[in-house]
Amino acid sequence: PVGTSADIRRRFVEHFEAAGHTAVPSAPLLVDDPNLLFVNAGMVQFKPYFLGQETPPYTRAVSIQKCVRTPDIEDVGKTTRHGTFFEMCGNFSFGDYFKAGAIDLAWELVTKPIADGGFGLEESKLYPSVYEEDPEAVDLWRKATGLPDDRIIRLGKKENYWSMGVPGPGGPCSEILYDRGSAYGADGDFNAEDRYLEIWNLVFMQDELSAVRSKEDFDIAGSLPKQNIDTGMGLERVAFLLQDKQNMYEIDVMFPVIERAMEMTGRRYGADPGDDVRFRVVADHVRSSMMLIGDGVTPGNESRGYVLRRLLRRAVRSMRLLGYEDRALPELFPVSRDLMAQGYPQLQADWERIATVAYAEEDAFRQTLKTGTTIFDLAADEAKSAGVSVLSGDRAFALHDTYGFPIDLTLEMAAEKGLAVDEDGFRRLMAEQRDRAKADAKSKKGKHAETGAYREIADELGRAVEFTGYEEVVSEG
Ligand code: ATP
Ligand code: MG
Ligand code: MG
Ligand code: MG
Repeated sequence: PVGTSADIRRRFVEHFEAAGHTAVPSAPLLVDDPNLLFVNAGMVQFKPYFLGQETPPYTRAVSIQKCVRTPDIEDVGKTTRHGTFFEMCGNFSFGDYFKAGAIDLAWELVTKPIADGGFGLEESKLYPSVYEEDPEAVDLWRKATGLPDDRIIRLGKKENYWSMGVPGPGGPCSEILYDRGSAYGADGDFNAEDRYLEIWNLVFMQDELSAVRSKEDFDIAGSLPKQNIDTGMGLERVAFLLQDKQNMYEIDVMFPVIERAMEMTGRRYGADPGDDVRFRVVADHVRSSMMLIGDGVTPGNESRGYVLRRLLRRAVRSMRLLGYEDRALPELFPVSRDLMAQGYPQLQADWERIATVAYAEEDAFRQTLKTGTTIFDLAADEAKSAGVSVLSGDRAFALHDTYGFPIDLTLEMAAEKGLAVDEDGFRRLMAEQRDRAKADAKSKKGKHAETGAYREIADELGRAVEFTGYEEVVSEG
């Protein structure tokens, strides 16, 4: 049917195949790159071509790339548009067509009527954005779309200049925004990103950067020998527009997980804003953890394994907060598998392994909760008999640190006992621990020299270095 995830994938690939692109399968989420936790953009597998280290066997490619972006975890369920896992539809030119070609091809696909293979989005709701120092792009957009000047939004370096955060290729970009109307933000407020929804980013790789100090402070040494195109369109975002849903968690390949969670918990999606976030977190985290295990990640206490562990635990915890205390993943994972296997049949073939890993992690977490709960109850009783109404930061920290007890759970359980928690104290201890870990990591430099050096740059730039994907493992709580 029109507008399903499968349909969008097909339209995207066919549009670009018809324009001479070679369809390239998604790379696995795990790549051999010391700077990357997970693949977080379509361009990752093509990096050696862009850097001129390898010669591509084609000059035009199209892909639907599995992506995981850990830094977006805090946004999941709260914005309408961020998943930890998502699929990025992309077209790429390696020294072939440049700005004009990329703009024409993208605009054609989004506006072409459904009946002719496009997405049929209404032109009156679309806003192209350009880098403010890229007048060429303004002209090309005007030519391609016939839009008046004030419909082409000029944005600064932070939004519309792309680099890898290190010396190398860089360039201006253009994005296509879709106006979802005043329910999502004020007229003309392009910072209201749920209103002016970014659906597609077109990067014009043209500059050679000699230094990158921050997202907004870099030196352009000259032009690249070859100009490249790298684009990324969010499949889920286009899907929720075409399926006429409020957000990405309600699309065809995600919502049935929420429906199953409703049956299990007896609560209704749409009845309580807090519960709604939890339902969405469940749908997102079940899917992303399943896809990660599918690509070979196993739960652990460091880096990739920790991300997976955190996703699985957050899914389980969200179900508890929704009132469901039994083993939850064996009910939810198969629902997500059946939805995603259409695009990723390997999930079926590998199912036994995937399920075993996930369910064992839930069991271990249940054990954690069991032990932690005893300790928690002791601490709560102690506070009560001492006549205090606050659980100390020390206690909350010990529960977190020793028993792996997430702070949300401590807060929730304390509230049930009529107790508050010294959250400031807890956060101070967490920060101290982080600083210790950082100091520790610095003194261990050399072992992973490359990552270490990169990490320093990344620390300075914060989340700016999105494409090379340095991703901080956001600490629990
Ligand atoms: P945003 O500003 O909304 O966070 P972005 O600028 O970080 O998006 P890009 O790096 O430009 O995103 O990635 C290309 C496209 O991938 C975006 O235009 C969007 O459609 C999609 N996308 C990015 N992050 C996510 C996510 N966490 N979940 C779903 N889709 C995403
Ligand atoms: Mg982002
Ligand atoms: Mg953006
Ligand atoms: Mg973008």
